[in-house]
Amino acid sequence: YKVNSDRYQICDYKRPTTIVPVVGQHVRWEFKINHDDDLDHLENEDNIRSMMKPHLWRINPEIHLSSGKLLRSKAYTYHGVLAKNFKYNNCFLLGDAAHQMPPFLGQGLCQGIKDAYNLCWRLTGVKNNVMNTKILEMYSLERKGVVDFTIRNAIKQGDIIGSQDRFKAYIRDIYLNISKYIPKLLDNLRIAYSWRIKKGNIDTDLFPNKANGVIIPHPSLALKKDNKLFDEYIGNNFGLLVFDNSINIVNEIKKLSSSSIFGENIFHIDETNEFNKDKKIFKWSKVNNISAAIIRPDKHIYGCVDNTNIINDIDQLTNKLISEIQ
Ligand SMILES: Cc1cc2nc3c(=O)[nH]c(=O)nc-3n(C[C@H](O)[C@H](O)[C@H](O)COP(=O)(O)OP(=O)(O)OC[C@H]3O[C@@H](n4cnc5c(N)ncnc54)[C@H](O)[C@@H]3O)c2cc1C
Repeated sequence: YKVNSDRYQICDYKRPTTIVPVVGQHVRWEFKINHDDDLDHLENEDNIRSMMKPHLWRINPEIHLSSGKLLRSKAYTYHGVLAKNFKYNNCFLLGDAAHQMPPFLGQGLCQGIKDAYNLCWRLTGVKNNVMNTKILEMYSLERKGVVDFTIRNAIKQGDIIGSQDRFKAYIRDIYLNISKYIPKLLDNLRIAYSWRIKKGNIDTDLFPNKANGVIIPHPSLALKKDNKLFDEYIGNNFGLLVFDNSINIVNEIKKLSSSSIFGENIFHIDETNEFNKDKKIFKWSKVNNISAAIIRPDKHIYGCVDNTNIINDIDQLTNKLISEIQ
């Protein structure tokens, strides 16, 4: 059978259900456990298939209830917890050791990977004596801010999807149905720029921009340069992306003594650039009024400048970065 790749959160107050086609023919199903469920037989195949029955048509209307193989079924509980600090002396916490959250945003492991990205460049910099030990303190500050936000939103999302109060579920359904006609109502539920780092090694005062602290959007995975994807191409050190169409700006920036911190990692991304073939990244820079941006090794934007005085402003921003990390 062909598996429909759409994902569903089925807000049925009697049995909230999640359907996530993951890869190939594999589909992940989740069902909320009710108080009157028979816990001894909950994970039995017959029981699982009976819970699948009302929704199977969404995967493919022709799928028969007995088709496919049940690989694993497991009852689980969840909670939202966050360590007070992700660093104790020379010991760092990351992943589920630092935070655990309800699964509704699919972010548990993702946030653990982000912890690792955030910590690794700091440890490498300190180990190689090119960064000061102060930056290790920022790991906890940056990651706690983002993960706290994520946990709260996962709980909120779970409350919306999984409400089993008939009245609340009724109001929710009316609200969502009206939103089909007035999409603006969904703004309250949207999680915009959710993973933005607000405090830490991010420029918040010199050239404030709402893109500072977010991850640089990745161009289409079909686009490669020198056989490398965009994130591989821009490397694992601090880098500078220049979006101005003029190559002269790049050459002038390279003459600044401050720019030596980027080594070879200064890139000119004009409209004709290979990575702009999907026409996204250059447009993104224009929408956010960015002429040049400093990218951290974990691909977060440290800071950016507009086109008022690019060379001078980049010099100031780079010197600010140097004073923070060296
Ligand atoms: C139902 C469910 C759905 C989820 N869905 C998603 C999702 O869609 N997306 C997502 O990003 N995340 C999801 N998660 C969360 C994700 O699974 C976890 O966040 C992730 O596995 C945590 O990885 P970790 O390496 O930090 O910890 P763990 O996976 O817990 O790994 C820790 C390892 O350390 C081992 N260990 C423990 N103590 C010791 C010891 N003393 N010595 C040696 N080894 C030890 C353990 O055996 C384990 O193998 C989901 C979780 C659940 C339960």
